[in-house]
Amino acid sequence: MSPTCVNEGGPASLIQLDSTPSLEEEIPLSANALRALTRWRARHGEIFTAVDPIGSFYRIRLTALEANGGRAIAFERLPVPSESRARIEIYQALPEKERFELILQKLTELGVMRIVPFISRRSTTLEERDAVQKKSHRWPEVILRAARQCRRAMLPELFPVMDWDSASYLASSADLRLMLLEKEATWTLKEALSGEHPARSALLVGPEGGFHSSEVEDARNMGFLPVSLGPRILRTETAAIAASAILQYAVGDLG
Ligand code: SAH
Repeated sequence: MSPTCVNEGGPASLIQLDSTPSLEEEIPLSANALRALTRWRARHGEIFTAVDPIGSFYRIRLTALEANGGRAIAFERLPVPSESRARIEIYQALPEKERFELILQKLTELGVMRIVPFISRRSTTLEERDAVQKKSHRWPEVILRAARQCRRAMLPELFPVMDWDSASYLASSADLRLMLLEKEATWTLKEALSGEHPARSALLVGPEGGFHSSEVEDARNMGFLPVSLGPRILRTETAAIAASAILQYAVGDLG
């Protein structure tokens, strides 16, 4: 069975309008939009980013929200799409406690579409894993807050913590497959991205102890290119955030 996302993120969280709205006019919301709004835990009076059928993005204010219907006013048309056309997925070896929350928040801001935590062969100790499990109920909330704050139109998908085999397998269907490796990488991330226009990019980020050599070998066999972020050894959360920014700059909408 393939794992499913735990936070109701992804395309179903996109708030779609049935027609192009006139600004400052109240419009009814479709059943589809209402379903998406439940994923955002929306309440009456709150403001969200929605998309119309031709792909223009709007800021909308909810003027009515009931079980059987809702209404909203679009008050601003956004000059550029809120969601990146580049689908960036980060597969992150679980760091200790709060550091993963920082990663969730920052990757959401940077427009990452999917975040998959995994246990690497060199991941944290059992105690640390326990601490992570106790806090994992907070993760969807961290993403939700960040997505609202930075005005995203879609919630990134958060997957449950996986083992290395499941995570690398899930990532291996991406068009561009990269593994952040602080040593032995022949290419830098910059070099690997030159001339690439991938629809879907997957990036593997290792634990504090670095990837295990067997993981590096597995990844190479699955077509992942090991890439370096330059001469300094970054903490895993810095590596994830910096690499997401570089990816979004090179193939997406940051810059
Ligand atoms: N234990 C290693 C460092 C691991 S850093 C050592 O001390 O040698 C944690 C993770 O961040 C790594 O597994 C890698 O995925 C990523 N990372 C950190 N710095 C990097 C760099 N300069 N280039 C590529 N990846 C890096």
